[in-house]
Amino acid sequence: MAGEGVGTPRVAVIGGGLTGLVAADRLLAAGLPVTVFEKYPEAGGLVGVCEVGGAPLERFYHHLFTSDVDYVDLARDLGLDGEILWLSSRMGFFTAGRLWDFGTPASLLRFAPLGVAGRLQFVLSTLRLRGERDWRRLEGETAAGWMRRNGFGKAYETVWGPLLAQKYGARAEEIGLVWLWGKIALRSRSRSASGLGERLGYMRGSFGRGIAALLARVRSRGGDVRTARPVRLVAREGGGLRVETAGGAEAFEKVLSTVALPELLRIAPGLPEELRGRWARVAYAHALCPLLELDRRLTPYYWLNVGDASLPFGGVIEQTNLLPPDWYGGRHVVYLSNYVLPDDPRWRMRDEELWRLYLPALARVRPGFDESWVLARRIFRGEYAQPVVGARYSELLPGLRTEVPGLYTACMAQIYPEDRGQNYAVRLGRQAADALLADAGRGGGPA
Ligand SMILES: Cc1cc2nc3c(=O)[nH]c(=O)nc-3n(C[C@H](O)[C@H](O)[C@H](O)COP(=O)(O)OP(=O)(O)OC[C@H]3O[C@@H](n4cnc5c(N)ncnc54)[C@H](O)[C@@H]3O)c2cc1C
Repeated sequence: MAGEGVGTPRVAVIGGGLTGLVAADRLLAAGLPVTVFEKYPEAGGLVGVCEVGGAPLERFYHHLFTSDVDYVDLARDLGLDGEILWLSSRMGFFTAGRLWDFGTPASLLRFAPLGVAGRLQFVLSTLRLRGERDWRRLEGETAAGWMRRNGFGKAYETVWGPLLAQKYGARAEEIGLVWLWGKIALRSRSRSASGLGERLGYMRGSFGRGIAALLARVRSRGGDVRTARPVRLVAREGGGLRVETAGGAEAFEKVLSTVALPELLRIAPGLPEELRGRWARVAYAHALCPLLELDRRLTPYYWLNVGDASLPFGGVIEQTNLLPPDWYGGRHVVYLSNYVLPDDPRWRMRDEELWRLYLPALARVRPGFDESWVLARRIFRGEYAQPVVGARYSELLPGLRTEVPGLYTACMAQIYPEDRGQNYAVRLGRQAADALLADAGRGGGPA
């Protein structure tokens, strides 16, 4: 398709999350007219915010690792890099009916559930994965298969297995070794930068500021951002593409979709059968994200992994153990992390049914926990929030250019070998814009 563009193509971006806004910004900077269609009344997608104690707070917990250099670069470009705080954090693990410190060499020595052999396996497996420079060599293996085959079974059954089961349910055993490699490599880089413990990044005033600044710049560059405008159809028309919303149909020369693949398959029924078949094989988990405002601290940890399959959530993230409760009007802010596969009954449950699962389970994590501590509570839902990345995922991995001329895709399922995150949304949004610009004969995007 290179060089097909003549004149200035009109571009539609579907999705006003971070990827879509980054791409729109770059396309506008290169002189292309851009219209962004966002389904919800607010832009931001998964980085959307709510309010706690008068302060903005992400609806889904968010932090940065020190390896998130593309996000930091964007923040610098937006004049916000000085607003990123790098904070030490404390990690724990709930297993065998109690809380354990986790994530430092000293805590590993005291982590009795692994036993001596398991500790050794944990260290050796981590070192081996960390030392692997070429992830392609790990592609053919599942995490479970590799750990067991290499004699790291105890470490897998105690630590990684339960965490994967919490996140991916019945698909846990399918998760590729590359996914685990990505997690271990990224976290270890965040750790080694600080020596002891881990340093995580958070933006003063929430990551919603990054979205707001980007949105303002997109608009100041002439971008037309239309919120509460779900796209319901993308179809070929003449030499271009027709985009339909409740507001009517418009013609564009180029369309960049940033929505999840199942959503793109739904709104673009004319995609070639072979492509549809391949994309349909990319599975996703949805995210349920309960948020509690408490009158007191729940645990000593920012990030608590829950390695106990009998609990209905896989993590307890206590925002106010990373940041002071003063930021949130003195309230203690706790998220629960609960990913579910689309056929999991929890995805269809009403809030009150879910709370009947979550609250008694919290009392197991924190004995003495009482509902009277809860000042406010709500549950956020993120559809297709986590792609399920199995072995040989590169064979499924969609490219930026679809087989429909002028139609591009840049979504979380295209982030590999790393796992999805704001950093990679920035990288992918830039790459998608550059591909589109190159095809339009505009060379690469701006530096
Ligand atoms: C529970 C959870 C925790 C996370 N924690 C972190 C973290 O700690 N650190 C980190 O960096 N990242 C984290 N992330 C990931 C991060 O939020 C995402 O990687 C990033 O926001 C993805 O941006 P996106 O634009 O690609 O996708 P999205 O944010 O999903 O944006 C897609 C947009 O498309 C819109 N859309 C969908 N369908 C249509 C349609 N038909 N028409 C128009 N618009 C449509 C959606 O409303 C949405 O706004 C987390 C995500 C989750 C779910």
